[in-house]
Amino acid sequence: MKVLCAWCVRDGKPAFLREKSPVSDVSETHGLCSDHFTSLRASVGQVMSSRRWLVSQMNDFCWGLTRWGQRLMGRLFSLS
Ligand SMILES: [Zn+2]
Repeated sequence: MKVLCAWCVRDGKPAFLREKSPVSDVSETHGLCSDHFTSLRASVGQVMSSRRWLVSQMNDFCWGLTRWGQRLMGRLFSLS
């Protein structure tokens, strides 16, 4: 599967992030690239300071969970 950054797609930028197993599956899924994920975390931290603990906790999560978060955020914010 191909993982594309939902925000880069929206902006018309090169959006390809990485391949995801199964590689033979040619369908696409959305996530956020590190640039957009960082800016999203920054804006979330500014707007919702009460949720800053969550943002800081996300920094400490393992890489796999960070990928899950990027994908989740991509789904949640792809239409905003
Ligand atoms: Zn992006």
